[in-house]
Amino acid sequence: MSLNRRDFMKLGLGACLLPAIGYSRADTLVSEDMYVFGTLVEVDVMSRDTAAARAAIADVSHTFSVQNRDWHAWKPGALGDLNRALAAGREHAVEPGLLSMLHEAKDIAHASGGLYNPAIGSLVGLWGFHSDELPVGAPPDAATVAQLVATSPSMEDLVFNGNRVSSRNPHVQIDLGGHAKGVAIDLALDRLAQLGYDNALVNLGGNLAVSGDRGGRPWRIGVRHPQGSGALASLEISGRMAVVTSGTYERYRQDGDRRYPHIIDPRSGQPASHVVSATVLHRHAARADGPATSLVVAGPEAWVDVARRMGLEDVMIVDDQGRVQLTPGMAARVQFVVPPTSVKIVELA
Ligand code: ADP
Ligand code: MG
Repeated sequence: MSLNRRDFMKLGLGACLLPAIGYSRADTLVSEDMYVFGTLVEVDVMSRDTAAARAAIADVSHTFSVQNRDWHAWKPGALGDLNRALAAGREHAVEPGLLSMLHEAKDIAHASGGLYNPAIGSLVGLWGFHSDELPVGAPPDAATVAQLVATSPSMEDLVFNGNRVSSRNPHVQIDLGGHAKGVAIDLALDRLAQLGYDNALVNLGGNLAVSGDRGGRPWRIGVRHPQGSGALASLEISGRMAVVTSGTYERYRQDGDRRYPHIIDPRSGQPASHVVSATVLHRHAARADGPATSLVVAGPEAWVDVARRMGLEDVMIVDDQGRVQLTPGMAARVQFVVPPTSVKIVELA
């Protein structure tokens, strides 16, 4: 039997069949799918009252739409307005939600040694990833890529003056594509908890987080196989916990047989392709999303130092040869569905 990622999330299998304290036997899974952030989004809650649960999910779903507009790097909206102001050398007032994302993204960029760099929006656009459709055709001209890399856009160029933001470098264009989903997931679980739903799962295109459990059993999550359509591994999580995966397999530029993935190495301006997926387990999705992107950039060896510097604990890396590296904590949790080419345990502590 072949199980895909969605199947895994629905299974909710677990060893413990006893209801957890506070769990009502009458709770059932209420699940809704939607399409937002350019991806399939799923929200599950455990509830006795299906209608009320659906209303709570609709509340969260409405917020996703607003966030998608406000945090979009290239469509009209709050971040688009900021980017236009930065390009024109103007200072711009930013609303509190976006402002705190900029601060947090700057911290993560710093901790990653600049491998996660949301200031490279122009490079991402040059490769054709500022479009809903996947780009096709020859990669951008090497000289143009090199020119953009030479402008060294960095979050350190931003100047924060209260809620007003400007940039010392006019080449800074902010792209929060590697951070925004993590933030949105955390806020969605916070909102559901506020509405009384303490057992929930929010999945934004394979980046997900859970709270509580699934009727006294852990949530069972599938991590997608980077080279196939099904799951590579499954793992069980409960309590407030996020499993975020950055991969090169979903969005890429296709030129004949060649694929150029959407995660760009800010040092070269070229797509990162040696790590095909990086999965980070963390209490906060917002603290896993950017870091996962930076591990893809770091590559199959350097990721270890980058993960240590970022204080990550549980990580799983799959390289372009299908080899898996994972931390002991991750190894203890995952069950492989498809046997990897090789498995290596790496201590980060
Ligand atoms: P996904 O969107 O599949 O979850 P990521 O979280 O890794 O993947 O985000 C990738 C997106 O982040 C790209 O589409 C682009 O918008 C942006 N990006 C690409 N390279 C980098 C980078 N080195 N640092 C920060 N953001 C990046
Ligand atoms: Mg991501």
